[in-house]
Amino acid sequence: MLSKIKNYITDNTGILIRLDDIAENMNWDLMKKSELLFEKYEIKPVLGVIPKNKDNELLSYPKKDDFWEQVRVWKNKGWEIAMHGYTHVYDKTCQKDDYFNYGGGSEFSGHSLEVQTSRIKNGLKKFDDEKIKIRTFFAPNHTYDKNTFIALKNCGINEIIDGYGFMPYQENDIKFIPQLFYKVLLLPFGIQTTQIHLNYWAQKDFDNFEKFIQKNSNKIITYDQVLKKINNNFFYKFINSLLKKILKFKRIVKNK
Ligand SMILES: [Zn+2]
Repeated sequence: MLSKIKNYITDNTGILIRLDDIAENMNWDLMKKSELLFEKYEIKPVLGVIPKNKDNELLSYPKKDDFWEQVRVWKNKGWEIAMHGYTHVYDKTCQKDDYFNYGGGSEFSGHSLEVQTSRIKNGLKKFDDEKIKIRTFFAPNHTYDKNTFIALKNCGINEIIDGYGFMPYQENDIKFIPQLFYKVLLLPFGIQTTQIHLNYWAQKDFDNFEKFIQKNSNKIITYDQVLKKINNNFFYKFINSLLKKILKFKRIVKNK
């Protein structure tokens, strides 16, 4: 019995590495170091690529001219390329009426279905033009509404790397892979994803990340492995809603 429980916990504990704000303009120095680290430990992260970055803050970072070729190289290594917004520009503010009740700047939530659909369509078209296949999405600043989900599904996307929960789950015909903490943290149970912003990291943050990888490399899983862990049973639904209630009030750090 005990060994069964132990095996269950082992099978259902893991972390997916998600890097945010991947665009032509970014901290390429730390990206290169991360790439070497992932190769060394055979890690396949998810990269949240912004198809048409117009975010002034992000545009201040160094530009890589052969960016899309680089994305294809990553994709060919088996890394998952996710679409992260369209332009990454917030042109609405949510009053915590977005799906996850985060509030704050939004590129999607609060916009009409037409506007959201056109942004998603245009973003996907860029990837298509660059011959990169996309199956998953996450919005800048975690802000979604029901129209975001309809727009995504209309465009053939039904996977989102965001949400509250201990396990990936399905809701509104969308698969959600939970993202709980700003810090890179492995829980003793459950399957989560990180959100890493290399642009805001100093060398010491990278050094801590390297230590984390060294210590937990056997717990780092791929996007495909995560999808296989979707669990909608009553117990997880209950835990997820409880977790949502707790974290909604505790989430102090506002992220992009
Ligand atoms: Zn972002």
